[in-house]
Formats: sequence, structure tokens, C-alpha cells
Amino acid sequence: MNEIAAVCSARADEPMAPHTSFRVGGPADIFAEPENAAQLAKVIEILKAAGVPYFTLGNGTNVLVRDAGVRGAVIKIGKGFSYSSVDGLVIKAGAGLTLAALARRAAEECIGGFEELSGIPGTVGGAVRMNAGAYGVSVSDVLKSVTYVENGSLKTVDAEAAKLSYRSSIFCGMKDAVIVEAVFEGKEFRKKEDIIAACEGYNERRRNSQPLEFFSAGSTFKRPKDGYASRLIDECGLKGTKVGGAEVSEKHAGFVINRGGATAADILALMKIIQETVLEKKGVLLEPEVVIL
Ligand SMILES: Cc1cc2nc3c(=O)[nH]c(=O)nc-3n(C[C@H](O)[C@H](O)[C@H](O)COP(=O)(O)OP(=O)(O)OC[C@H]3O[C@@H](n4cnc5c(N)ncnc54)[C@H](O)[C@@H]3O)c2cc1C
Repeated sequence: MNEIAAVCSARADEPMAPHTSFRVGGPADIFAEPENAAQLAKVIEILKAAGVPYFTLGNGTNVLVRDAGVRGAVIKIGKGFSYSSVDGLVIKAGAGLTLAALARRAAEECIGGFEELSGIPGTVGGAVRMNAGAYGVSVSDVLKSVTYVENGSLKTVDAEAAKLSYRSSIFCGMKDAVIVEAVFEGKEFRKKEDIIAACEGYNERRRNSQPLEFFSAGSTFKRPKDGYASRLIDECGLKGTKVGGAEVSEKHAGFVINRGGATAADILALMKIIQETVLEKKGVLLEPEVVIL
């Protein structure tokens, strides 16, 4: 802990609830917030030498941290990773930049192609790892390359080698790799006002269809092969089902929400009820999209 604190901001026994959009989760033994790739590499080196496992956290909008917390370290991508630079249609972005900020930068530069992604509340790092997407567009549609830290060195892969597919990428299977930067290429130059209007339109659609007034991690389950998880959950009559403070949203059956005071155990128990009911009534096993830690 002392060695890490000499490199970057770090705290012991940090509650994880404030760092996740579900607002649940117990403390992480070590919480480190490196601000650049050199600090990040050093923190990883210290953790590896001490045999301490680590987990990378972006904006915490797709994770469910259990009530017992995290034995080991959470590496939170710090504000120093929120940079961007532009060259033509190409935008280089730090892993900590939010997709909203990426879309704003694209709009300022009259670069179209990021509008659909603008309302996803994650960071570039989390969005690449999850191949986040909305309204028919995914990160894979605009990604050119990804740079990450692994085994103490910086490596870059092009988008093809990063193998982005539905809510997945090679990074899902590379536990030690931490994304530090991504390069994107927009589709075309557009008028700034048109881009802003398009972003606003998508965000309006989100506000109308999603329970954004409650804590959640967005869609709890991945889309099954045929159809939508939310439709199956709705058809099983599960809207409004509650366990403690966790509830299947009445507004969008795909969202498990924390109505306030939910524990991770409540959310996990409700997820189990949803999975068992949908399997029994529809013959489909829903796979969590949310990363459970
Ligand atoms: C209201 C709401 C709406 C949402 N809508 C959508 C949507 O429309 N489409 C969609 O796809 N998702 C959606 N999500 C889910 C979420 O925003 C995305 O999955 C997002 O990409 C997660 O980014 P994050 O920075 O929050 O990642 P986190 O939740 O912090 O982490 C998610 C995963 O990525 C890993 N990770 C994070 N940063 C890095 C990094 N730098 N290097 C390596 N691994 C990393 C973590 O270890 C974890 O496994 C929504 C969530 C909410 C709360």
C-alpha cells in the first residue's frame, strides 16, 4: 500500500458503492488511481511483485461489486486519462474519457459517427472492453486501434486483432491487460449542429425508455440469440418484481434498478429469479452483461 501511495493517489478499504452506478458493493482492500500509463505500469508492477490480484475500473457503469468487497486491488482509471486529440476524422482518446465527452469532442470537430454512442455512460476503456453499443452502432464500428499495458509494457493492437463482437473483445479474456488509449475514426464530416441534434435525439429516446432516475448498470443481461432480454423478462411478467431494494424496472424490463438501499445480494438474488423464470417459461438462459466482482 505504501509503495503504491508513493506512485499515485491510493487508499485502503475504499467502499466501492460510490464508484459504481449500481451504488452497491463493499470495500476494496486497495484502491489506486493512476493518472498516466507510467504510473499505471508501476502500480501493476508493485501489485504483481506482491502477488496481489487487481481489477480495472472505468466509470463503474457495468459492474456489480459484491457486498463483501474486493480482496485485492481496484485500479481506477484516473482523470489524467481523459484526454483527446484530433487529426482529420481520427480521434485519439485516453481510456478515461467518457463516451459523452468523446461524442462532444467529435461534434466540436464536425466528425460524425459517435452520435449513437453519446449516451452510454462508460469510459473509452470500459466501452472498448465491452464493445459497448446503442441504436445499431457499436464501438467496433469506429475503432481503429487500442493501446494497453500488459506485463509491464505498452502494446498496441489494431481493431481487427482486438476481436470486438457483441459485448465482447479480446480484453475480456486478458485479465491483466489495462487499456490506456484507443484510436477511433469517424464516418464523415457533418455540420456541428446536426451532430448535436442527433446526440440529443438519442439521449431523449434514452430518457423516455430507460429508468435513468434510478441507480442501475444499464441492461443487466446480454441479448440472447433471438430477441431481446427485456422482451422475454416482460413476457414472463417480471416487471416490478422486487428483492429488498432491487427491482425489475417497470419502465424497461431489461434494467434491474436499485431503488435505494439495495445490497449486491438483493440484486444477485433478483437476477437469479429472472434467469430461472425466463429459463422455465421461455427455455432461454440469460447471460449477465454486468461484470460481477
Ligand atoms: C443507465 C445506463 C445505460 C447504459 N446503456 C448502455 C448502452 O446503451 N449500451 C451499452 O453497451 N452499455 C450500456 N451501459 C453499460 C455501460 O455503460 C457500458 O458497458 C460501458 O462501456 C462500461 O464502461 P465503464 O467505463 O463504466 O466500465 P466499468 O463498468 O468500469 O467496467 C466494465 C468492464 O470493463 C473493464 N474495464 C474498464 N476500464 C478498463 C480499461 N481501461 N482497461 C481494461 N478493462 C477495463 C472492467 O474491468 C470491467 O470488466 C449502460 C449503463 C447504464 C448505467
